[in-house]
Amino acid sequence: MPISSYTGRFAPSPSGPLHFGSLIAAMGSYLQARAQGGRWLVRIEDLDPPREVPGAADLILRTLDSYGLHWDGEVVYQSRRHPRYQQLLDELGIRGMTYHCDCSRARIQEAGGIYPGHCRSRDLSGAGHAIRLRMDQPVYEFDDRLLGRISVPIALAEEDFILKRRDGLFAYNLAVVIDDADSGITEVVRGADLIEPTVRQIALYRLLGYPEPGWLHLPLALQSDGRKLSKQNHAPPLSQQHIGQTLWQALAFLGQCPPAELAGASADIQLTWALQHWSMRSIPHRSSETTHASHS
Ligand SMILES: [Zn+2]
Repeated sequence: MPISSYTGRFAPSPSGPLHFGSLIAAMGSYLQARAQGGRWLVRIEDLDPPREVPGAADLILRTLDSYGLHWDGEVVYQSRRHPRYQQLLDELGIRGMTYHCDCSRARIQEAGGIYPGHCRSRDLSGAGHAIRLRMDQPVYEFDDRLLGRISVPIALAEEDFILKRRDGLFAYNLAVVIDDADSGITEVVRGADLIEPTVRQIALYRLLGYPEPGWLHLPLALQSDGRKLSKQNHAPPLSQQHIGQTLWQALAFLGQCPPAELAGASADIQLTWALQHWSMRSIPHRSSETTHASHS
């Protein structure tokens, strides 16, 4: 039973099976929550149907289970929460914090890739437009519990970013803030590829009047060419035959120095050891190449 108010989460998108990079995020958030006697939730980020693979969500959940990463409560699916996102988007609109935008991607690229606020005072209305946040109180930096003070480029912090896309899909930054706030997440532990959007999410927390969680960004597992291990880069799915070895490699990647003799142990024994020895301060700050070998 949880003995603290700590609530963490793992939030994969169902665009393919879990791979070694996603295991790092799952394990890091799991251990950080459980080591503090907290709750650990799972949310399926199925916000973008064209990028989703049928069956991937169920496969992800089965894989977490077989790796001993058991979550609390019901799994949250973003695809079932659209009315909630729309409600808060409407509230921001009533407060004058949003505006419609019909700019093309090409126009924004011409302006250097950062949206220059072209539609801010055009007072567009109607359907078929993107909806942007009027960023009047930008956030330029935040404190990461592993990495310390993080600053982002000023233009990025000040951009009127998209809350709802012109194709009607809700934007990641809006959904993730509402979901984490509604689930009572007290600390967000995730991969370092999501460092920059954090300032946008903090700005939304403040606008919506939600208490801001803590932030902890884990190093990324990189391929030998330096790119992030990801579904887009065809990272191999997690092995179902070598669960113990794979967990051991993930613990080693997270700087936990598991003893060599642990490598052959079951998932439960590995995780019990990991909880007893969990040291957040030992997690490396830099992303690095993984020595994880696929056993597929
Ligand atoms: Zn525009």
